[in-house]
Amino acid sequence: MERSWNFAAGPAVLPLPVLEQIRADLPALPGVGSSALEVSHRGPWFRDVLDEAEANLRALLGVPRSHHIVFCPGGATMQFSMVALSFLRDGAAVGDHVLTGAWGAKAVEEARRLGVARISWSDADAGFTRVPTDHEIRATLSPEPAYVHVTTNETIQGVAFPDDPDLPSDVCLVADASSDLLSRPIDVARYAIVYAGAQKNAGAAGVTIAIVRDDVLETIPDGLPVLLDYRTYVDHRSMYNTPPVFAIYVVMLVTRWLRDEIGGLGAMLEMNQAKATLVYDAVDAHPNRYKGHAHRGSRSRMNVTFRLPTEELERRFLQEASRSGLRELRGHRSVGGVRASLYNAMPLEGAEALAAFMERFAPG
Ligand code: PMP
Repeated sequence: MERSWNFAAGPAVLPLPVLEQIRADLPALPGVGSSALEVSHRGPWFRDVLDEAEANLRALLGVPRSHHIVFCPGGATMQFSMVALSFLRDGAAVGDHVLTGAWGAKAVEEARRLGVARISWSDADAGFTRVPTDHEIRATLSPEPAYVHVTTNETIQGVAFPDDPDLPSDVCLVADASSDLLSRPIDVARYAIVYAGAQKNAGAAGVTIAIVRDDVLETIPDGLPVLLDYRTYVDHRSMYNTPPVFAIYVVMLVTRWLRDEIGGLGAMLEMNQAKATLVYDAVDAHPNRYKGHAHRGSRSRMNVTFRLPTEELERRFLQEASRSGLRELRGHRSVGGVRASLYNAMPLEGAEALAAFMERFAPG
């Protein structure tokens, strides 16, 4: 069966060579004799997979020695709780949350179950169309926030920070990078914690990558539930209990692909920029047909969101796109319209096909 262009927001498209490797490894891994779905996490095969996944992530992202990389279950949603539990130790601690979209709003909601969390900056009233400047973030912080939480790319609104936020070095910056980790180089040293569910750019659903600075580990309160304490994952190499073996194996294959076939995150960024430019240019070329959701300076390379003049036209757009093999373009119900997710594994040809369709769909 022919593959369609899959613009889903996550779980999302995977690199074809990775899918082919998975197929080749089923039903028996060379030298193991069982599939990746059947092997013990305590055996040498999985130890090598974990080592390589971690080493590839460390090399691709330039993770400094001051930070540990761990693999957690529970999605980015569980990270919302783990972050709050790590920092909001007592009633005096305040977590500051910068809200640039729906996921940031979920993160603060969750933190508030566990301690004092404040919305320090929010664009909710304007419908989440932009990120703040560094100055705006700095000017709205609490006097001594326990942490500052940002969402580097808001998957639903298609709003993204163009660069790593530049905050004073004593601020513990925490980033939900679920939908843009590995799509570009970042300066990991700026962050106390960076986390991302794997199901957009790093692999399949079921595992979440967390990169945690050592001084954060040192101050986590004792007595947390064992799987909500980052130290459990560090101390047991992400194998305190049975880890999502297959999902981590896919992360290993995807990071190997990024390293060997793409040539690292600088090259990946160039390709992602080229894809996003194609689609945004199609939006901008027809202002009477398409209206981008995000302000230009906050446009996401990963999730391009736009509306058409009427819901009827949007329905037709989605129907005709689907007939042309362009799938999963429906915007999230809270924003409506169209959302084209252009993650790492979406080839340039997919973005070209979408841009060409948008041209055809626009009136002459
Ligand atoms: N944060 C962001 C930016 C996301 O895109 C998502 C999922 N789409 C989440 C958090 C929640 O992730 P999960 O479903 O893995 O818990």
